[in-house]
Amino acid sequence: MTQRGWTVQQILRVTTEFLRDKGIESPRLCSEVLLSYQLKKSRVELYLEFDQPLRSSEIAGYRSLIKRRLKREPLQYITGHQEFWSLGFLVSPAVLIPRAETEILVEEAIKLKEGNLLGDSGQPKVLDLGTGSGAIAISLAKEIEGAAIWASDISFEALTVARDNAKHHNLNSRIEFCQGDLWQPFSSSPIAFDIIISNPPYIPSKAFQTLPPEVRDYEPRVALDGRENGMHFIERIIEESGIYLKSGGWLLIEMDPDQTEKALYLIDSTQSFGYKERLMDYRKKYRLIKAQKKNG
Ligand code: GLN
Repeated sequence: MTQRGWTVQQILRVTTEFLRDKGIESPRLCSEVLLSYQLKKSRVELYLEFDQPLRSSEIAGYRSLIKRRLKREPLQYITGHQEFWSLGFLVSPAVLIPRAETEILVEEAIKLKEGNLLGDSGQPKVLDLGTGSGAIAISLAKEIEGAAIWASDISFEALTVARDNAKHHNLNSRIEFCQGDLWQPFSSSPIAFDIIISNPPYIPSKAFQTLPPEVRDYEPRVALDGRENGMHFIERIIEESGIYLKSGGWLLIEMDPDQTEKALYLIDSTQSFGYKERLMDYRKKYRLIKAQKKNG
């Protein structure tokens, strides 16, 4: 990669081969995304300029991006960007990179609204517990007109990213950001939420060594580590959500497929919920539980 005067096409071909040899996932996509980031051009524009020679400064900049990726830094932290629910989000190492399967949570919340399952509330109150980048809260603010949204996180740095994302989408007036450990921001004066939605940390601490380096070494542990069996936060959410939901209000929690059965059992044992089910993600794995607080 030291040669000068390479064209876009040549450098993409060589870089893709290089990344593939080093075991980097989706090597072609990675080389294109990083080149378009370096050149401040879209990927389509790259294709239109396939025969364009690159300057040596551009090649040097691209090389340093590739080096970061070789150290397994996630592509999204290098570019500072991830798409979720077809919206653009800023991401930094302070926040978990939003995952495609989390879109199922958003989809389910929208279905509740569209199916008139939120009672007669014209302005449903929604809480995104552990908001991270703000992806869930912001997607719901876009989709559920009139909803009042709260988004909390224990991490001040994460909330800074979430606020920036809300500003970017012109939704800062619709979302109330709160800092604190789980229920703490709401405990002194509980709000009766129509929906509580959460993608909490749920990876068991002992599973960390087996995670891909991109996740293990770069994503915030506070957003991933669900302690001993990965259920610490899920349990605390289920146990106390009854206090913070209105009658007939809904709880939606993302989790590992192996945790869903235990979560349904816990939901029963609270005796607060009348209805419960677990739902699958795009890969046909149980990925979330949905439960409705009893009426009355
Ligand atoms: N789905 C994430 C992963 O497997 C975990 C997200 C979480 O702990 N909330 O990397």
